[in-house]
Amino acid sequence: MEPSDAENICLCRICPSYVECGEPTAFCLGTNPSKCINAEAGCLCLGCPLWVKKAFRHVYFCTRGAEIAQ
Ligand code: SF4
Ligand code: SF4
Repeated sequence: MEPSDAENICLCRICPSYVECGEPTAFCLGTNPSKCINAEAGCLCLGCPLWVKKAFRHVYFCTRGAEIAQ
């Protein structure tokens, strides 16, 4: 899946932890964590279709890094 396709189903932009600063979402697939999200105030990844499809095991990808990095 291309990162742009993942962004279309990504829930990060409606997540309470999300901070908009013009960066791509789908942090689960990214190579770096977010540059502007610092506080973990809830994570919606468990309810994301991509999270289920990929059988991920981690959350808070924005602050802790991509699935493969955790
Ligand atoms: S698992 Fe989380 S970071 Fe990845 S696309 Fe879904 S909501 Fe976004
Ligand atoms: S990775 Fe999780 S905590 Fe971070 S913005 Fe996306 S849904 Fe929210």
